[in-house]
Amino acid sequence: MAHPIAAKTIQRDADPLAESAQFVRGVGPARFELLQRLGISTVRDLLFYVPRDYEDMSDFRRIADLEPEKMQSVVGEVVEIRGQTTRRGLAIVSVVVHDGSGVLEARWYNQPFMAHKFRYGQRLVLSGKPKRARNGWWQLSHPRIQPLDGEEHLTPGQSSILPIYSLTEGLRQEQLRRIIRQAVEQYADLVPEILPESLRQQRQLVHITQTLRWLHLPATLEQARQARRRLAYEEFLLLHLALAHRRRDVNAQVRAPKIVLTRMIDARIRQLFPFTLTRDQDRAIAEIARDMGQDKPMRRLLQADVGAGKTAVAVYALLLCVANKYQAALMAPTEVLARQHWQTLNHYLAHSRVRRVLLTGSLPESQRRFALGEIRMGQVDLVVGTQALIQNDVEFHRLGLVIIDEQHRFGVLQRAQFRNLGGEGQVQPHYLVMTATPIPRTVALTLFGDLDVSVIRQMPPGRQPVKTKLVAESKRQDLEKYLRNEIDKGRQLYVVCPLVEGAAEEDLAGDLYESFGDAANKSSAEDSNSPAEKASAAPASRLSKNPSVAVSYKGAEEHYEYLRQGPFRGLQVGLLHGRMDERRKASVMERFRRGETQVLVCTTVIEVGVDVPQATLMVIEHAERFGLSQLHQLRGRVARGPVAGECYLFADVSNEISRARLRLFLRTTDGFELAEADARLRGIGQFFGTRQHGVSELRFANLIRDVDLLEHARQDALTLARTDPGLRQEAHQLLRRAVLERYGTRLDLAEIG
Ligand code: ADP
Ligand code: MG
Repeated sequence: MAHPIAAKTIQRDADPLAESAQFVRGVGPARFELLQRLGISTVRDLLFYVPRDYEDMSDFRRIADLEPEKMQSVVGEVVEIRGQTTRRGLAIVSVVVHDGSGVLEARWYNQPFMAHKFRYGQRLVLSGKPKRARNGWWQLSHPRIQPLDGEEHLTPGQSSILPIYSLTEGLRQEQLRRIIRQAVEQYADLVPEILPESLRQQRQLVHITQTLRWLHLPATLEQARQARRRLAYEEFLLLHLALAHRRRDVNAQVRAPKIVLTRMIDARIRQLFPFTLTRDQDRAIAEIARDMGQDKPMRRLLQADVGAGKTAVAVYALLLCVANKYQAALMAPTEVLARQHWQTLNHYLAHSRVRRVLLTGSLPESQRRFALGEIRMGQVDLVVGTQALIQNDVEFHRLGLVIIDEQHRFGVLQRAQFRNLGGEGQVQPHYLVMTATPIPRTVALTLFGDLDVSVIRQMPPGRQPVKTKLVAESKRQDLEKYLRNEIDKGRQLYVVCPLVEGAAEEDLAGDLYESFGDAANKSSAEDSNSPAEKASAAPASRLSKNPSVAVSYKGAEEHYEYLRQGPFRGLQVGLLHGRMDERRKASVMERFRRGETQVLVCTTVIEVGVDVPQATLMVIEHAERFGLSQLHQLRGRVARGPVAGECYLFADVSNEISRARLRLFLRTTDGFELAEADARLRGIGQFFGTRQHGVSELRFANLIRDVDLLEHARQDALTLARTDPGLRQEAHQLLRRAVLERYGTRLDLAEIG
C-alpha cells in the first residue's frame, strides 16, 4: 500500500533555494569550488551552513573612547605591521590600527608568525583589555582578532556579534561571512516557512526568515541562540513526524492478537516469583499488559538500569501471552544470556505445564530440526533463543509476543527484521525490547522514537551500592590477599580483562572506542561476543605471532594462568572469553553459577545480563580502556544480592580524560548520569547502530543539550500525526514535503512495517 503522504511527487522546479550557490553575488567558479569542499552547493546549503561559534564583541567602542583594563572591542584598519627581536631574543610583532578617532597598537610576544597574518589596509576587530603605552597610544597584548570584510559596517556603541564558520584552505573567514551575508540578503525572504503558525506561536519559535538573519547576523547572542533552537526544534519535529507516520502505517494495517489479563492469570504468574515485584516493575507490567490488550501490536522499550529486574517483567509478559494460548519468544544477544534466561524460566516453571524449548546456534542439527517442527506445529508455547530465532527457517504456529533482551545496540534495520518474525501476513506479534544501557532520554527517543517507553529506576529492596575503589599497582598483593580471604568465606570473584591475549601498548594506541559502534553492531548480527573484545581481538592476535614485542596489556589468558598458579593457587579458577565456542562458554558459566569455580577470569563477555547473585567481588584490569557505560554494566554484575558488592579497578590514570571518567565512576552508581557523561565524553555515536537512522541529519540539534526541545517536538509530532494523519491539511503541506524530502526513502516511510 502506498503511503498516504508519499503519493504526490515532489515538485521542486521553481525552488530558488535549489539554485547553485554560484548565483550568490561574490561567488565565482573558484569560490564555488571551495564552497563545495565544505559541502555547500546550493543556496539552501549556504543559508543553512551553521556557524561553529560566535565572536561576541562586547563593549564595542571608538579607540578614542577606550578605558584602561576593561574588556572592550574596537574596529580599525591596519596601518603598520612590524616584527622585531629584542636584544634578549624576544620576538615582538606589532600591528597598528586606526579608526579615525585614534590609533592602537596590538602586540604579540614570541609569536613571530603573527606578522604574516595581517595585510595593510585590512580591517580588523580587536578585543582585549587596553593599556596606555608611554607614547600615549592604546596598547593591546595578544588581543582576540576577527578580520572584517570591506562591507561589514559595525557601529560602535551597539554591541556586535560575528559568526565564525568552519573553513577550508583558501577561503577566509571574512570572505565566507560575506558570501553568506549576501545569500541571506538575497534569499532569506524566499525561504518558505514550513512550521505551521499555530505551532510557532505555541512554542514561541521565530519565523524562518528571521531565524536565518539571527543565525548569521545576530545582534545579540540571545538571537543566535533562538535561531539555533528553532532550527533544532524543526529537525526534531521532522524526524519525529517521520517516525510517527511510520508507526501509524504499522498500526493502520497490522493487527495483533488481543491478550487478556485476568485476575486469575495475574495471581498465577505472581506466585511463581520468589519475591514481590517492585512498584516500577508493576508499573511496567501494567503498561505492557495494557498494550497487549489492544489488537494493535505493542511496540515498547523497557529501559532499566542493570540489576533492576527486567527479567521478571519479561517472564510475566511471556506467561501472560502463553496463558492466552499464544506462543511467546524471548531472544537474547548471546548464548550465555539465552541459557541464563532458560534456566531462570525453568526454575520459575518447575511445576508448570508450559512447553518450552531453547533454540541457539550451537544446537545440533537434528535437535534443531525437531525443535523447529514443534514450534511450527504449535507444540511449544515458549521459545528462548539467540539470533538463531530469526533465521528464515523458523516458523511459528501462533506467535503472540517477541521480547528482545539487551537490544540497545541493534540498529533500526535489524529491528525491522524482527518485526517480520510474525510472518508476512497482516497479523504481527506484540513486541517488547529491553535494554540495560541507560540511554539518555533524548538519545532513546531518537533511536527508538517509534517505541513507547517504560522505565524501571527503582532497584529491588535490600540492594546495596557497590563499593568501588581504584587500587594502586603497589597494593596489588594486599588486594589479592584480601580477596583470597573473602573467597574462603564463600564469596565469588570476577576478574575482567579488556583482551583475550596480552598486547603491546603501541598496538593498542588506536582508541578502542572508535571501533566500538561498528563492532557492536556486527556482533549483534553474528551472535558473537562482546564488541570491545572483538574490536581489540585483532591487534592482540596479530601480536601473538610476534613474541619479541613486550606485553604490557594483560590478556585474560595469561592473567588466568598467573592467578591460578600464583595468588589463587588451590582455588577453582575459570576462564571465559568470546573466542571460546558457545558450548564451552556455557559450561564455564554454568560451573561458576553453581559455585564450582570461585574465580572467573573473563573479558567483557559478561558485560550484559549475567546474573550470579553470590558473585559479589570484581576486579577490573586496565579500567581506563572501558567506556563508562561499559564499566557500569560490568559493575552491575556484583550488585545483585543483599551483600554489598565490591569492585576494584586497576587503571592507568596518566591521561586527563581517563582520570576524569574514572573519578566520576568512583563517585556515582547512577547509570543515567554515567551514560550522559559517556555521551558527552565519547560522543553519541556509540549508541547508534546505523547511520541510516537520520541522526546524521541532525545539524542544529544536540542530543544531550536539547532534551526539552526534543520532548516538545515529539509531542507536537504525535499530535499532528493524530489530528492530521498523512499531513493533508493545507497548513501542513510544506511540512509534509519536508518530511518526505528528508526521510521518505531513508526510513522507508511507504512500506516499513
Ligand atoms: P536486569 O534488569 O539487569 O536484567 P535481572 O532481571 O537479572 O536484572 O535481576 C537482577 C536480580 O534481581 C536477579 O537476581 C533477580 O532475581 C532479582 N530481582 C528481580 N526483581 C526482584 C524483586 N522485585 N525483588 C527482589 N529481587 C528481585
Ligand atoms: Mg537482564
